[in-house]
Amino acid sequence: MERSFSLSIGGQSVPGDRGTFAVINPATGESFAECPAATPDQVNQAVAAAGVAFRSWQHLADGERQAMLEAIAEKIEANSEELATLVTLEQGKPLDLARFEVGAAVAWTRATAALAIPVKVIEDTAHKLIELHHRPVGVVGSITPWNWPLMIAVWHIMPALRSGNTVVIKPSSLTPFNTLRLVELINEVVPPGVANCVTGEGGTGRAITANPGVQKVVFTGSTPTGQDIMRAAADNLKRLTLELGGNDAGIVLPDADPAVVAPKLFQSAFLNMGQTCAALKRLYVHESQYDDLCERLAQIAREQKIGPGLEAGVTFGPVQNPEQLALVEALVEDARQQGAKVLCGGARLNGSGYFYPPTIVAGLSNGVRLVDEEQFGPVLPVIPYADVEDALRMANDNPNGLGGSVWGKDLTRARALAQRLECGTAWINGHGEVLPHCPFGGHKMSGFGVEFGEEGLLEYTNPQLVHVCK
Ligand code: NAD
Repeated sequence: MERSFSLSIGGQSVPGDRGTFAVINPATGESFAECPAATPDQVNQAVAAAGVAFRSWQHLADGERQAMLEAIAEKIEANSEELATLVTLEQGKPLDLARFEVGAAVAWTRATAALAIPVKVIEDTAHKLIELHHRPVGVVGSITPWNWPLMIAVWHIMPALRSGNTVVIKPSSLTPFNTLRLVELINEVVPPGVANCVTGEGGTGRAITANPGVQKVVFTGSTPTGQDIMRAAADNLKRLTLELGGNDAGIVLPDADPAVVAPKLFQSAFLNMGQTCAALKRLYVHESQYDDLCERLAQIAREQKIGPGLEAGVTFGPVQNPEQLALVEALVEDARQQGAKVLCGGARLNGSGYFYPPTIVAGLSNGVRLVDEEQFGPVLPVIPYADVEDALRMANDNPNGLGGSVWGKDLTRARALAQRLECGTAWINGHGEVLPHCPFGGHKMSGFGVEFGEEGLLEYTNPQLVHVCK
């Protein structure tokens, strides 16, 4: 790639003082560009710059920050093809899906700009006026994963800026370029120091979470990293929003129509090659429809066109990195050894890219690793059940609790069952759709706090009670 990238610190584009590291294109398995690496000292400089910028940014009129977010949305839109190509090159997803990701980034920026920060009047009587306001927390540290790198960066940055905070973001070292470019574009709009970007591996993230100048961390990624962030945050009681791993279950009720639900189930499980936090990751199907639905899913899987994301007509890209691919291989192999049947796919494709075809695994149950653990890749275990109460028990028998779904024609019955799922979002006849006006977050080991909507925006604020004795 001809273009080179810089860190953004205090409004300046600067090289990484720790040199550079290679970023791999998952479709080829080869490096396609060098990314600057920040030193801990540069992380501290970024936090300090964000702290200085916060002094005035927090006092801007609400409408001014809204207008700047609108202007940022326009910048993203104007550069959407470049951003989408970067996402495909470093993340691997088909270009159309990367375009969808950029479009979602624009939509989320606009929706966040339009949100209002409420003031609640708790008491207004002859002697008292008591109001609940919301103050920005200060410098927000944002740490993002590699699966939807641009969209998740926007999910973190925009509500932080909208509510008067400044930001230091660290993208995944596997997919850093789209975020470096995003922050460059944001810096064309906001004052210096309001949005900073530093790059590197976990240690760079640790330098943010351990920095006493950071008042809040918003993190999307794996549960073990979330636990480490929580420990690091204890020293200065950083506020936390943790969006962690998921192992979402779907339950197909006996009245569902297999022909109708199969394409939707496939899309829910294999969106982004299964590398989506709230993808459908375990599917429980009534024994009366089990063989039929398994075969329909396998048929859709066989129809996918697998290849590099930049190639026209490709519907299914590579897995993002070799570690994730090795996990998928190990889980499928283990399931095979436990007697499960691989209906389609089930082996890595030859060649240097990290390609693994969409894989449907049948004839297994809870207690097998592929069901119990988050695969975060292109394989779906389908588990038969005879009694709906058993399906519900198996669905809830997992430490994660991000999303879950129930599929069937009788909406009253499906809804009653969905509300008994132990998770942050319960979908009926769908799975995984997130929206900018609906709070989204996990239960149990999938994290805490929510993103999106007013509830998500207020996570970037501290409540402040203003108590007037008249
Ligand atoms: P990861 O936890 O390995 O890495 C995420 C980010 O944390 C990266 O930027 C990484 O460099 C950084 N990091 C690593 N160690 C750190 C530390 N000790 N301190 C601070 N930062 C550190 O996760 P991943 O492999 O990039 O992403 C996959 C996981 O993310 C899956 O489990 C998936 O379910 C989860 N995820 C969750 C959501 C959600 O909204 N709940 C969304 C997307 C992904």
